[in-house]
Amino acid sequence: MSTRKVTSPGLLERLEKGAVICAEGYLFELERRGYIQAGAFVPEVVLEHPEKVYELHREFVHAGSDVVEAFTYYGHREKLRVIGKEELLEPLNRNALQIAADVADESGALLAGNICNTNIWEPNNQETHASVRSMFEEQVGWTVDAGADFIIGETFCWVEEALMALQVIQAADKPSVITFALDADGLHDGVDGVTACKQLADAGADVVGLNCSRGPATMLPVIKEIRSTVSCHVAALPVPYRTTADMPTFQLLQDKSCSCTPDIGTFPTALDPFVCNRYEIAEFAKDMYTKGVNYLGLCCGAGPHHVRSMAEALGRTPPASHYSPDMSKHAYQGTDENIPNYYRKLGKMYE
Ligand SMILES: [Zn+2]
Repeated sequence: MSTRKVTSPGLLERLEKGAVICAEGYLFELERRGYIQAGAFVPEVVLEHPEKVYELHREFVHAGSDVVEAFTYYGHREKLRVIGKEELLEPLNRNALQIAADVADESGALLAGNICNTNIWEPNNQETHASVRSMFEEQVGWTVDAGADFIIGETFCWVEEALMALQVIQAADKPSVITFALDADGLHDGVDGVTACKQLADAGADVVGLNCSRGPATMLPVIKEIRSTVSCHVAALPVPYRTTADMPTFQLLQDKSCSCTPDIGTFPTALDPFVCNRYEIAEFAKDMYTKGVNYLGLCCGAGPHHVRSMAEALGRTPPASHYSPDMSKHAYQGTDENIPNYYRKLGKMYE
């Protein structure tokens, strides 16, 4: 068992007082950096290059994240079976939790465990349900051993699978954050996001909401409805991509200006032209927070600059704000008296 002290104030106390920011997007960011393979997307990096995981956790906290989420997303038994490395399951989970605990403890951030969509759940197949339960139980067990402050169950596309995750987290006596990833038409079982969140809230989840799949523009209207439907805390963690009514999820984004991508669409390795800028993320955070959505974050595609923008939009100045933009000293566009006049005049050509 863990000797780790529970972080104080905890998740629920912090949510009662204001916003909690949870930076996510580890898979995409570490893929871009060259330490995770797109496709299977298994976080072997926690064993192969733990220093890179430490670094990204620290960057997210530096940028304003209140939570260090153990990087066990897709570190579950099914994913390790797919890549033929089930023997790595326990060391991978324990390492990920230790890395996250170290960064949480050095920074005062909350330590979150993580379980997620298993990709084996089938609606009327009891055998898969039993396997899913045991997958959740083993991961939650390691999370409890590591002394996590709360547990996130995320990216679910089946209500029943999410309910099972909640039960396992509740049995471990940890606060729960349960979020769904919505397709264009809702969840795989035909349930819409609002109804799904209501069911989880009724079952006692501490925080319910949405993560991944949708960008700010197409997540926002659903989150508003969820906020007005449930009485518990609500979570919104979109992907930072410009999804639209026609292309409501990042898996559906089509880039007409490029014909050289190897995949059918742009997901997951050619989404670059759709990335939201930091100001769009700030607008989203402000809008959500003023509507009573207190658990805010970003999912696949997010970088530390997005997280900082979110934090600053909530009136905070995380350490990274020391380096927030100051264009007054720009060589051409600057207004500072130390910028030579000649160059300031040249700069006007760009206006
Ligand atoms: Zn995601």
